[in-house]
Order: sequence, then structure tokens, then C-alpha cells
Amino acid sequence: MLQPPDTEPLDPPERTLMGPGPSEVHPRVLRIMSAPLIGHLDASFIEIMNEVQELLRYTFQTENRWTIPVSGTGSASMETAFANVVEPGDTVLVPTNGYFGGRMASMAQRAGGEVVHVDAPWGEPLDPDDVAAAFDRHDPEVFGFVHAETSTGVVQPQVPELTSIAHEHDAYVIADTVTSLGGVELRVDEWDVDVAYSGGQKCLSCPPGASPLTVNDRTMEKVLGRDTDVRSWYLDLSLLEGYWGEDRSYHHTAPITNVYALREALQLVAEEGLEARWGRHREMATRLKEGVEELGLELNPDDEFWLPSLNAVRIPDGIDDTRLLAEVQEQYNLEIASGLGDLEGEILRIGCMGYSARPQNVRLVLSALEDALA
Ligand code: PLP
Repeated sequence: MLQPPDTEPLDPPERTLMGPGPSEVHPRVLRIMSAPLIGHLDASFIEIMNEVQELLRYTFQTENRWTIPVSGTGSASMETAFANVVEPGDTVLVPTNGYFGGRMASMAQRAGGEVVHVDAPWGEPLDPDDVAAAFDRHDPEVFGFVHAETSTGVVQPQVPELTSIAHEHDAYVIADTVTSLGGVELRVDEWDVDVAYSGGQKCLSCPPGASPLTVNDRTMEKVLGRDTDVRSWYLDLSLLEGYWGEDRSYHHTAPITNVYALREALQLVAEEGLEARWGRHREMATRLKEGVEELGLELNPDDEFWLPSLNAVRIPDGIDDTRLLAEVQEQYNLEIASGLGDLEGEILRIGCMGYSARPQNVRLVLSALEDALA
């Protein structure tokens, strides 16, 4: 007989989360997570589902019927997008300017797509002329781009230009909005984005676990008209429609506590107002940016492409980022992160997301950096 391990009741450390996600969870969201469970087919839960969908439509700025939280982290809503929209043999155009374009390529390829690339260096957005040239060369059926690249701190401007190039070629556009939803201007319908997916743990300040997705009717026609089954049972939108559509019939047991959490986090977005919330993110990130500049540091991307929710700060010569991150964690209980991929060892990544985007957190980051660089 195996003996129980020698563990104690859980007592995780309290940290100030100013990294690339998760961000700090709002106290109201934490509180609702201790509410008792109700059944996932209970009439009260169905009412909550309807409200989550309404609040998500507001937050995405869309009237799409197909607007749901996918069970799982951001990668689950991302995979739902690619697994459903990409059919075997489809050509899928994805960017090379960051880590998450690479993940798009893997998911598209696993869905049976032929992956082609539009290039831009890490730290820069896509140039619409390059996207147009890639469309002329490859004529893809699907185009994915990352609106807010967490690995580089770059926001993709000119989204309506990108979507109009894609639509001139009858392609479907999938946007990664994991680090923009609820923190950075995003207008799904006005910008003509066909599919957008996100996560809870960034600008929505929710724990990861129920991840927003919106799909327009035109794209759902492609999905529901597929010749082959989606290669994932769990993420197949034609099956999920039974649960999130009119019927509300069993597909899988919804992560009830995560749905409560998302409902409360979205309620906070609605109470603050989307434009005010975008403004708060920009204001807090501006304080952070000005503060790091006063310390003699600089942001990696040009001001034009600066992503307020994720600030990529260049590491000065002679500074060891591993030591710096350990020091700020030990002395300030503060989480910030190092670079990934092409920018590993070159940047620090400082988030300014959701409930974490507050003056005291910005001040803490600046004091911690000042000490660590002294
Ligand atoms: N896309 C972007 C831009 C992200 O930043 C992340 C997570 O950091 C993901 C996708 C994947 O989300 P998750 O880690 O929640 O699965």
C-alpha cells in the first residue's frame, strides 16, 4: 500500500504579477470562485452562460452569434479556431514575427493545412504590403495574425487593411487577441475580423481556464460545411453548438467555477467601460514606460507599435536577466519575465494587464528595477 506523501495544506506565495500573464485576479473574481457549484445544465447556469456570451460580445465588439468561452486555456480557444477553420489541404498564411505565429503554424499543420509564411522581424509588426505580396504568391484560404504579440510587446496596427487584403482573396482571418482583449483597442466587427480568440489571464484578470472565442456566420458556414470531421472531438464547434447554441444539451461538463470567474471579470469590464479600460491600460503603461526611460532603459519596439499591455524593455549591457528576475522576485515578491525565442536575453517583459495595471504596481516595478540595476 502506498503511503500518502508528506504534504501540508496548500499555501502559495503572494506575488505581484507584472509578467506576461497571468495577471493579478480581481478580488471580486476571486470571491465568486468560492461560490458553490451548480449543475452545468441548471437553468441558473444557462442564464449565466447567456450573460457570459452577451458580455463577451461587448468586450470583443461583435454581434457574432458564435461567441463562447472555450473550456481550457488560451491555447484551447486558439486550437478551436485553427482546428475548425482549417481543412486538410487548405493553405494557411501565418506570421514569423513572434512566438505565437509559430504556434499558429503548428496548429494549422496538425489540422492538415499547408503552412506558408509572411515575414517580419521579431519586434516589428507585419507590413500590409508584405501580406498582400504573400497573398498574391500563395493565395491562402486562411490567414492568421497576432494582434498583440506577448513575446515581443508589439501591437499589430492597420488591422482593417490586413482583413481587406484577405477578403479580396476570399480568405478567412483568424486574430490572436490573447493579450489585447479587454486592454487594448479591438473592434472585431468594425475591423472585419472573421475569428478572434483570447484567454482570461491577461487583460481580463481572470484565472486561465475558460477562453473567449468569436466566429462570424461566414466562417461558421465554412466550418459547418466541412467535408471532413474536425480532428478534435472536444473542440469541434459543430458539436459544441449543442451546448452553447439553442439546445443547451450536454457536450462536456463546463468548468463551472471558471465560467463564474469569467462572468465576473467581464462584468468588471462592462462596469468600467471598454474605452475607459483601454485608456487605463495606456495610462498605466505610459507611467511605466516613462519610468523605465528615466532609469536609462528603453523599450524595444518603436513607439508606433508599442503594446501597452506588454512592455518589452531592452536589457542594458552587462546585466544578467536571470539574476535580475530572481532578485526582484526574492526582494519584492514581484514577477516580471525574460525574453523568448529570438529576443531571449535581450528584453525583459513587463505586463500591465487588467487588475495588475494599477499605480502601486507600476511604482513597485520601477523601485524594484532601480534597486536591481544599482
Ligand atoms: N497567444 C498569445 C499571444 C499568448 O500570449 C498566449 C499565452 O501567453 C497564448 C496564445 C496561449 O495561451 P495559454 O498559455 O493560455 O494557453
